[in-house]
Amino acid sequence: MSLKGKRALITGSTSGIGQGIAEALACDGCDVVLNGFGTASDIETLTLRLAAQYGVSVRHIAADVAKMEDCRSLAARASEELGGIDILVNNAGIQYVASVEQFPAEQWDAILATNLSATFHLTAALLPSMRSGSWGRIINIASVHGLVGSIFKSAYVAAKHGLVGLTKVVALETAGSGVTCNSICPGWVLTPMVERQIEDKMRIESVSREEAERQLLAAKQPSGQFATPAQIGALVIFLCSESAANLTGASLPVDGAWTAQ
Ligand code: NAD
Repeated sequence: MSLKGKRALITGSTSGIGQGIAEALACDGCDVVLNGFGTASDIETLTLRLAAQYGVSVRHIAADVAKMEDCRSLAARASEELGGIDILVNNAGIQYVASVEQFPAEQWDAILATNLSATFHLTAALLPSMRSGSWGRIINIASVHGLVGSIFKSAYVAAKHGLVGLTKVVALETAGSGVTCNSICPGWVLTPMVERQIEDKMRIESVSREEAERQLLAAKQPSGQFATPAQIGALVIFLCSESAANLTGASLPVDGAWTAQ
């Protein structure tokens, strides 16, 4: 319960990594604002479960972070509902896979808006109150693709490299203020986003699920194991702790040695 009394906004927290982060923060005593798409009943079930299980306030605000106005109103409403936001986790993200020549321009725009620009808008909106409280944590869920490239992921790789760069600038501008800003760079994590890539591989290459998973991991992630949303959540908790007060501007891989190669 080391984060009791802190208030967190986690974008894209109705699924996958974001949900794992919200769970970890709530478990540590944080009040949380969830955001992301999903059915009303699934979102209500998640919201009620987290609140009951951990005894914290949990809200959901249904903003589309690909839109600037939604980001600004999400920041304002989240601050209003919890009385302020101390921890911002920029996690919402989407993927699209195609060669550069075949990449639809609208997918490029959507990925840049969701995976990069949303972080700028939310950070700009929430930083003033973090500065005035002399404490804040901004954690950007980038990717190994913020550090290295892969074929067919031009928009995703460009956005995630941008996120790593933005993280450095925010860390420099906030250094010494009590606010830190870091990126987490996961390799393969088994979530609905990766599930879609496994299913594509099974279909296109006519292989079993086990074989598709094995091939995905073997190609990039030497540990041969998926990371888990709970492991990413645990790193977020550490970054929010006082032990990490001087850890800022970093991009931390959780990638089974993918980027060590
Ligand atoms: P996911 O598809 O399971 O979850 C994505 C979440 O973002 C969902 O809650 C979805 O509703 C939300 N979202 C998408 N577009 C949104 C929008 N416009 N506005 C608001 N919410 C929106 O994906 P995931 O695998 O949990 O990915 C989470 C983050 O982690 C992403 O930024 C992704 O790039 C990053 N990441 C994932 C992996 C992986 O292997 N799964 C690896 C590296 C980085």
